[in-house]
Amino acid sequence: MQQYRTHTCGELTKEDKNKKVILSGWVNSRRDHGGLIFVDLRDRYGLTQITFDPKVKKESWEMAENLRNEFVIRIEGKVILRPDDMINSKLKTGEIEVEVENIEILSESKTPPFEVEEIEGVDKAKDVKEDLRLEYRYLDIRRKKMRENIKMRHKIIKFIRDYLDKENFWEVETPSLTKSTPEGARDFVVPSRLHQGKFYSLPQSPQQYKQLLMVGGIEKYFQIARCFRDEDQRGNRQLEFTQLDLEMSFVNQDEILNLMEKMMINLVEKLSDKKIMSKPFPRLNYDDVMKKYGIDKPDLRYGLEIEDISEIVKGCGFGVFADAIKKDGVVRAICAKKAAKFSRTDIDKLTEHAKEFGARGLAYIIIKENELQSPIVKFLGDDLSQKIVEKMKGEPGDIIFFGAGSEKIVREVLGQIRIELAKKLDLIDNNKLAFAFIINWPLFEEEFEDSHFAPAHHMFTMPHEDDYSLLDKEPQKVRSYQHDLVLNGNEVGGGSIRIHKRDIQEKIFDLIGFSEEKKKSFEHMLKAFEYGPPPHGGMAMGLDRFIMILCDEPDIREVIAFPKSGDGKDLTMGAPSEIEKEQLDELGIKIKKI
Ligand code: ASP
Repeated sequence: MQQYRTHTCGELTKEDKNKKVILSGWVNSRRDHGGLIFVDLRDRYGLTQITFDPKVKKESWEMAENLRNEFVIRIEGKVILRPDDMINSKLKTGEIEVEVENIEILSESKTPPFEVEEIEGVDKAKDVKEDLRLEYRYLDIRRKKMRENIKMRHKIIKFIRDYLDKENFWEVETPSLTKSTPEGARDFVVPSRLHQGKFYSLPQSPQQYKQLLMVGGIEKYFQIARCFRDEDQRGNRQLEFTQLDLEMSFVNQDEILNLMEKMMINLVEKLSDKKIMSKPFPRLNYDDVMKKYGIDKPDLRYGLEIEDISEIVKGCGFGVFADAIKKDGVVRAICAKKAAKFSRTDIDKLTEHAKEFGARGLAYIIIKENELQSPIVKFLGDDLSQKIVEKMKGEPGDIIFFGAGSEKIVREVLGQIRIELAKKLDLIDNNKLAFAFIINWPLFEEEFEDSHFAPAHHMFTMPHEDDYSLLDKEPQKVRSYQHDLVLNGNEVGGGSIRIHKRDIQEKIFDLIGFSEEKKKSFEHMLKAFEYGPPPHGGMAMGLDRFIMILCDEPDIREVIAFPKSGDGKDLTMGAPSEIEKEQLDELGIKIKKI
């Protein structure tokens, strides 16, 4: 069989002058220039200009006339230097071209439904409808940006594997056909043919298996694990996604965070040009974070911190503030530096935004050189207004925005306003990476689910040792050993120290309202805890989201080779799809139309 290449298309330089080479690749573009035909030949490694000259070989030149974009060709030719005025300094191969002697067309291509052609610095498919890109994903991933994303993904996963191997972790595969592993979403189920009427679940995460591996004495486990969660599609989520999942025995929370932190710093410094804002990563208390940033995954690339001014405005003349405090609520504020340039419409839009999250309005004070401009100053009075400005460190040119009401609503509203302000004031720097760990979470969610407690992380999370005594009396006050890793306003990881004692685990099952029946379905865990379980803990990182941030992409679909569309379909393969009647019969399944 013939040889397809001696070199790649991203390789030849002037050092290779006069070499006879063979290249194979896709026709990126073709230009006819008075007798000469120029083709940019593309492969995974780059572009090389090849030229067809009738004086070199007429037959080859004639064939080149028929070349269209995306044809796959193999050429043999000689490396020659480009004339000085034709040098392309942006390309590694920009100093040379290959003068073609022989050409073979390996396969032809129809005109692609969107342009794949690569031009340095231009992403031609940016405005193409995503559904079309997903249907023709094999063409889409020929594009440079997609190729770079896939390469980056490979590098990150390879780095993680090598790093954890050096740290004595073992990669262990856990089953995909399993039993429900609750992480708060709906399970995907797979009908069993051998056991009709029974179903496997696809894992929402390898949580229980990794804990059982700890009971099994593996001590340090990791896995690049596929997880499945049947959720309504919103935002940046996928029905199946990839986690770096890890677990360790005989560790405390700090040791888990230290490992993760060191790995992330090493990884970013090796593979990315982005700058980590603070090393070590800040370790922030959940309560403080909720007060200061209003959400549990704050973007710490910018300030705009929320301040509590309830004490100052208690009993003031502005009814909205005074009432909020009377009703056990809070009044908080954000000082937006240099926001006075906002137009009336800008402020109206912010107000609308605040209302979407439950506020009744959005009070503000614009600080001018000689006055405070605001509909509320006349109620607050000059002195109090001035005091607020001082507390908020306001200066001429700033606007102070307020939230008043229940703690929950004020957090949510100002948290969202903070994000909007950062966008409007152009404070978001994509070259920065602001990592932080959030610790000291409450064990349970604030709100009841069906009059029971819902775990804030998951039901295997260990309550804080100082709070055991509260478990019976005031479970909602119990903190846990949960830890989340946030990055630029995204939750990229989460984990905890786990329960490894049967009685505590049973207590948690009771508090979350498990029936005896439901408890039984976790008997394997309870039983395992009777055979010398070591203390253990770990965490998981959402790799898609992390890679998305490192690749500067707005959507995780851009860093997954074959993602599901927004409505959960695999548009490349056409899944989900109906199945043959025989298959259904074998499974004992009858489709009921609803
Ligand atoms: N299993 C958890 C999750 O998927 C992570 C962990 O607790 O390690 O979020």
